[in-house]
Amino acid sequence: MVTAMLETYPTDTRPTETRPTDTRPAETSATGAEAIERAWAAAERVTDPEMPMLTLLDLGVLRDVQVEDGHVVTTITPTYSGCPAMATMRDDLQRELLEAGFPDAEVRVSLSPAWTSDWITEEGKKALKDAGISPPGAAPARKGPVALTLMPTRRAVTCVLCGSDDVRLSSEFGATACKAMYQCNDCLEPFDHVKEI
Ligand SMILES: [Zn+2]
Repeated sequence: MVTAMLETYPTDTRPTETRPTDTRPAETSATGAEAIERAWAAAERVTDPEMPMLTLLDLGVLRDVQVEDGHVVTTITPTYSGCPAMATMRDDLQRELLEAGFPDAEVRVSLSPAWTSDWITEEGKKALKDAGISPPGAAPARKGPVALTLMPTRRAVTCVLCGSDDVRLSSEFGATACKAMYQCNDCLEPFDHVKEI
């Protein structure tokens, strides 16, 4: 039926140059795969303010980029509920999308499923290591209630400088809450380790 309707619909016989042109600026229209691709590219440029060697994609914070009803909708999941960098990440994402031609882009925050350090990509882990920060190992599998302990968490950490596994925890909190401080007993290098959660 649709085909029949299309076939009987009068065709526009005016010369192309006299047809009304679409005067909307191309960069503000958010439709189709091209817009999603452009929005992803913009979103992927945003980095973590505390660990600028990581993009939000590397960090696993950027969950989704879609076009809904003509505007871009991105979804992010905070690393920690109290992470002070989260508001900055959201603002940076909004600004990057604005500069990419999406002034009405929406940034949604999704809390479930909860972020885990396992979402940090392999590229992200490599970028951390290249910057002298020990990347997290596999996150502990958790189901149901999480028991709290006063003892420091045992982790398999190796020195970022010499690779030795003879390291000691010097502080459960490093420059940011998501990192612990370690020191290598072999080469004495102090370094940050991104905690597994
Ligand atoms: Zn070392």
